[in-house]
Amino acid sequence: MQKALRAYGEVLRLVRRLPQDTRAYYAKYARENFVNYREIDPNDATALDELLKRTYTHSLWVLNKYTVDESVAAINAAPNTPGGSRFDVEIGIPYTEQIMKTINYFIWDIFQQYNETDRKNVEIVRVFIQQYNGAEAITYGESINVSSIYLEGYKGNVKWEYTSLLHHEMTHVFQWNGEGRAPVGLIEGMADYMILKSNYYPIGFAKPGQGERWDQGYDFTARFLEYCEELKSGFVAGLNEKMRHDFSESYFEELTGKDLGQLWADYKA
Ligand SMILES: [Zn+2]
Repeated sequence: MQKALRAYGEVLRLVRRLPQDTRAYYAKYARENFVNYREIDPNDATALDELLKRTYTHSLWVLNKYTVDESVAAINAAPNTPGGSRFDVEIGIPYTEQIMKTINYFIWDIFQQYNETDRKNVEIVRVFIQQYNGAEAITYGESINVSSIYLEGYKGNVKWEYTSLLHHEMTHVFQWNGEGRAPVGLIEGMADYMILKSNYYPIGFAKPGQGERWDQGYDFTARFLEYCEELKSGFVAGLNEKMRHDFSESYFEELTGKDLGQLWADYKA
């Protein structure tokens, strides 16, 4: 019952962010949807799970009604879980939405996308705190799912870690991937490059010169991209731009004058 009420409260909180003249209508809709759940037996895990799924779907629906002046939105879809509670206490929705806007501009800046025509057409970036086991975060299109179980178990400053994570995941929303032809390691390396440049990288992050292959991914490829950027200012932005419709290893030579093999050898020297 407690859980059901909190889930309902979460939906009402979202409703309050809708244009004023539409709020009563949506609040009524939400109420009618949730009234049936008052009878739920708190020990019935399946019924509760059903309800939470419904909350999630409903929250999505409310967010989809969002007015256009909002480019980011966050929702805690696991408010009743230990990780979701930790999110509310140590991070929160207001911080998430504020930092998402900051990160959004940071990414455009690194990619040197100063005009709308340079940018990927992203309508609204959404962050969901969700209860699931597995990856810390999963990004599909414009939706970023962060695991409440991961947040729960993280040892240390979870707000800092979460901010770092959002730099990585939001890069996936805004970067080009050669229409799927770019190596995964490069895509992940670009995302970690944002972590590196924003100074949100952890102690264990790769050091300059480390790595086995240029497309090893994550922090290793991020360091390699950093090396190329130092060699040729604007390299990362140029590479991302070239990846708008395709991918070729020759892009490295076109941008720096050196082919990829030579660049990697120099990086490792
Ligand atoms: Zn990633």
